Amino acid sequence: MRAGWIALFVLLFISPGWAQTKLSVHWEELTAADFQSAIEQSKGTCLLPFGILEKHGPHLPLGTDLLDVRYVALNAAQQEYALVFPQYYFGQIFEAKHQPGTVAYSARLQLDLLQETTDEMARNGCQKIIIVNGHGGNEHLLPFFAQSQLEKPHDYVVYVMGIVASPGGPAKKTAVDMHAGESETSKMLISSPNLVHIDRTNQESGADQARLKLPDTLYTGIWWYASFPNHYSGDGAAATRELGEFEMKAWQDAIVTAIRAVKSDDESLKLQNEFFERAGHPLDTKQ
Ligand SMILES: [Zn+2]
Repeated sequence: MRAGWIALFVLLFISPGWAQTKLSVHWEELTAADFQSAIEQSKGTCLLPFGILEKHGPHLPLGTDLLDVRYVALNAAQQEYALVFPQYYFGQIFEAKHQPGTVAYSARLQLDLLQETTDEMARNGCQKIIIVNGHGGNEHLLPFFAQSQLEKPHDYVVYVMGIVASPGGPAKKTAVDMHAGESETSKMLISSPNLVHIDRTNQESGADQARLKLPDTLYTGIWWYASFPNHYSGDGAAATRELGEFEMKAWQDAIVTAIRAVKSDDESLKLQNEFFERAGHPLDTKQ
């Protein structure tokens, strides 16, 4: 009987499992030794939440996209363990250069910095990198970046998770809602309620000014400025915590699903390796 109690004591208080503290998902919070454990625990799966610094209407902070994407990515990584890279906001935002506080690096630097960032993540064991996008202006940049990973061999895989749509949920009150409007303001009420100045939502117009008349088949970079020169699309006053909770939960759930899928994906890297091997001598590819 006494031996049993001793065994129980050892099991509860001395075994290494008991002493182990839960690993942080924040890259910058880990010691070097804990980082090694984190790579192991995450199966080399790392998140790169990608925000931006740009105006968000008259009532939301410049870092809105960064704050929101980090909120959901960090929560998702705690639910399904993955390592989360520190603040990253070096994306495409030329269309807001006329507004105060916008940080718009050159196109070349955006691509180089992202490549070197994922290269460095991979060199440290992140064999599977999920870029979680939080900013609409990155939606063209990121698939291009992912595609350009086939330019030359890489020993890691880049996965891009675009902006997540969340149909269903509470009925929305506004029809135009592309930037700092009902949806985005609602999400900020969840991630950073203290930074939402709801009393300022109507200081500027978020209506579509429709100054360009072109068919849908044509894309031109100035389209956004033509429609929304105040960098505000919609009406933040329509925001509710209920909508924010629904949309943030849907986003977080989608990231958890993505982390699980990536952790169990052994095919992408295998196929990538096969592709690069064959790309070295295309004339041997059977026709
Ligand atoms: Zn935004």
